[in-house]
Amino acid sequence: MIPEINKEYETEVTGVSSDGRGIGRISGMTVFISGGVPGDTARVIVTSVKKRFAEGAVLSLLSPSPHRRTPQCPCAGRCGGCQTSHMSRELELASKSDRVTQALKRIGGFDISEPVPISSGAPQRCRNKAVYKISFENGAPVCGFFENKSHTVAAADDCLLCGVYDKDVKNALLSYIRETGCRNISELFIRRSSNGAQTMLALRISGALPSVPRLVSLLTAADKSVVSVILDAHGKCETVFGQSLITDTLLGLEFKISHKSFFQVNHEMTERLYAQVLEYAALTGSERVLDIYCGIGTISLCAARSAKSVTGVEIVPDAVLNARENAAANGIENAVFFADSAENIVPKLIDAGERPDVVILDPPRKGSDGATLGAVLKAEPKRIVYVSCDPATLARDLKLLSGGGYSLTSARAYDMFPRTMHVETVCLMSRICSGE
Ligand code: SAH
Repeated sequence: MIPEINKEYETEVTGVSSDGRGIGRISGMTVFISGGVPGDTARVIVTSVKKRFAEGAVLSLLSPSPHRRTPQCPCAGRCGGCQTSHMSRELELASKSDRVTQALKRIGGFDISEPVPISSGAPQRCRNKAVYKISFENGAPVCGFFENKSHTVAAADDCLLCGVYDKDVKNALLSYIRETGCRNISELFIRRSSNGAQTMLALRISGALPSVPRLVSLLTAADKSVVSVILDAHGKCETVFGQSLITDTLLGLEFKISHKSFFQVNHEMTERLYAQVLEYAALTGSERVLDIYCGIGTISLCAARSAKSVTGVEIVPDAVLNARENAAANGIENAVFFADSAENIVPKLIDAGERPDVVILDPPRKGSDGATLGAVLKAEPKRIVYVSCDPATLARDLKLLSGGGYSLTSARAYDMFPRTMHVETVCLMSRICSGE
């Protein structure tokens, strides 16, 4: 017997899925329940039945979970940005720690007795970057985030995770769109320095904009910290106001960041994460470090201060230019950067004789790959520090490394993305040395 579509059932919610839905069982089948919180007993309508699981939504609560919270955001439930705003922070954090622990156990095959610890900070206004979507509702422009699993924009006046002045910038942009009737802007990107002094705005456009000076004057009047306005037409960027870079600091170093470059979105948690990376790297001044997926060189340059040399590898050319400028601006002379894909350049570097003592990996969500990890194993570094934003690909890659003579010494999760189920993890793999 399996659950039936459109039928109502009474069930208990016992877990949280990787996208923040409740998990329960109906007629012996796992059901992902939108709006469900562990501890709820709820009436649930089944909305779809797949081969191995079903999906449903809470219709009413028979007995609400003690972990339920009323979301502070007026847009909650509609906006797809937050996945966990209806649950307590304690439950959110425990669920993320569990996500990492289970991935390391089940996918990685690691024998972990204690849950992976998670570090967290205050969620309010924790993000330094947001990308708002723009669309039209009954002819009127709206600006916000997509609704869950949809391309309909939920107009969020003020996202409580993002900058306090974002709403003023959004309103200025909406005024411009109403005034000019322009329909060519699909996205508003906002990146702010952690001290609030500098803000970069980038608009994704699909054609020429009417009266750009008017646009710039509205945006800069709305937020005095705007130092950069960029128009991004299918990847071709033009700076129409101010500078093309903004500056932020991390662990006492200054970083210039371009619109296209990756920069961690949560300043407080990034500094804590990087401090952990450096602790795991255990640099004494004599080590050669290879930082793969280095972005604008943030970890590379923090490590360079206590290493013999650092080699950074990054695929985005703009980010590598930023990394080189950042090294020079911080007076760091022992770091070199390669603009290439890891899978291409890392095997070449190792074949050419590069022998790092410490390798740092911080890949995008899809994780690393066989060519890169194979080359890392060939180099036999003493320690590998792996930073990841996806527990599943992390566990997969660590399993490969453990098969090549490394053991998982330590793991720690970081709540980089509050109110979502996304979680950042840093792991230390140490070389199992036979006979040493
Ligand atoms: N360590 C940096 C960046 C981490 S994000 C920081 O903490 O800021 C991952 C980075 O990997 C991004 O900058 C992305 O552009 C880069 N990247 C993605 N695929 C890559 C590949 N195949 N080879 C090298 N770099 C890649």
